[in-house]
Amino acid sequence: EATDRQGKICLVVGGGGFLGRHIVEKLLDRGYEVHVFDLRETFKDDRVTYFLGDLCKKEDLLPAMKDVFVVFHCATPSPLSNNKELFHKVNCHGTKTIIEACKEAGVKRLVLTSSASVVYEGKDVENGTEDLPYACKPMDYYTETKILQEKIVLEANSDDFFTVAIRPHGIFGPRDPHMVPTTVRTAKAGKMKFKIGDGKNIVDFTFVENVVHGHILAAEHLEPGSKICGKAYHITNDEPIFF
Ligand code: NAD
Repeated sequence: EATDRQGKICLVVGGGGFLGRHIVEKLLDRGYEVHVFDLRETFKDDRVTYFLGDLCKKEDLLPAMKDVFVVFHCATPSPLSNNKELFHKVNCHGTKTIIEACKEAGVKRLVLTSSASVVYEGKDVENGTEDLPYACKPMDYYTETKILQEKIVLEANSDDFFTVAIRPHGIFGPRDPHMVPTTVRTAKAGKMKFKIGDGKNIVDFTFVENVVHGHILAAEHLEPGSKICGKAYHITNDEPIFF
C-alpha cells in the first residue's frame, strides 16, 4: 500500500491555492512525491518541487509533468472576478493545454476539481445525483466555463488516458481565503440584513479534508477498466473522514 505510493510523483496544478495546498499536504502524508505548478509560490515546503508558470502555456507545464503519475487540476481565476475572457482562457483553453501536455509528457491520469454549480439551474436541488443534466442557464461566466471545462476533461478519457471530475460546492476549513472571510466582510459592511426565500433554504458546504479525500481516492482508482473513468462525482460531507 504505502510502498506502492513511494516514488510516485503527483502534480498539483493550482497547488498554491486553498484546496491545492491541502491536496499537497495529504499527498505528502501518504508518501507521494509532489510537484506544485502555480502562477505564484504561496508557501514553502522542502519536500515539494515548485514550478512557477501559467497553465495556458504548454512549455511552462511540460517540465512539471516529467515522470508524473497523476495530475490534479485545481487552478482557477477567482470566481469573484466575473472576467469572461479570463475564465475562457484559463478554464477552457488552459485545460485543453493541460491535457495536451499530459499526452506529450506521457501522464496517464487527470483529476479535475469541478463544481457542483455545473448542475445548478437556479432551482432548489436536494439529494441531487450525478444524473442531473448540466445547467442550461449557468448562473455566471465562471460556472459556464466550469461546465465546458468538465466536458473537455471527461471527453478526453480514453483507453490510455484516464480522467475524472470531482464536484464540491462551498469548501470550508483551515486557511479558507474565500467563504468565511467573504461572509464576514459582507456582514461587517452591513449587507447581510436580508433573507432569501422563506429562510429554510439549505446549502451544501464541504470540509476541505473531505474534498481532498475524494480527489485522492479518485486518483488512486483511475486505472484501465475502472468504472470511475470519464465520470463526475458530487462530493459532500457525511461524517468527517480522516485517513
Ligand atoms: P484558489 O483561488 O485558492 O486557488 C486557485 C489557484 O490557481 C491559485 O493559487 C492561483 O494562483 C492558481 N491559478 C490561477 N490561474 C492560474 C494559471 N493561469 N496558471 C497557474 N495557476 C493558476 O481556489 P480554490 O478555492 O482552491 O479552488 C480550487 C478549485 O476548486 C477550483 O477549480 C474551483 O473552481 C474549485 N471549487 C472551489 C470551491 C470553493 O468553495 N473554494 C467550490 C467549488 C469548486
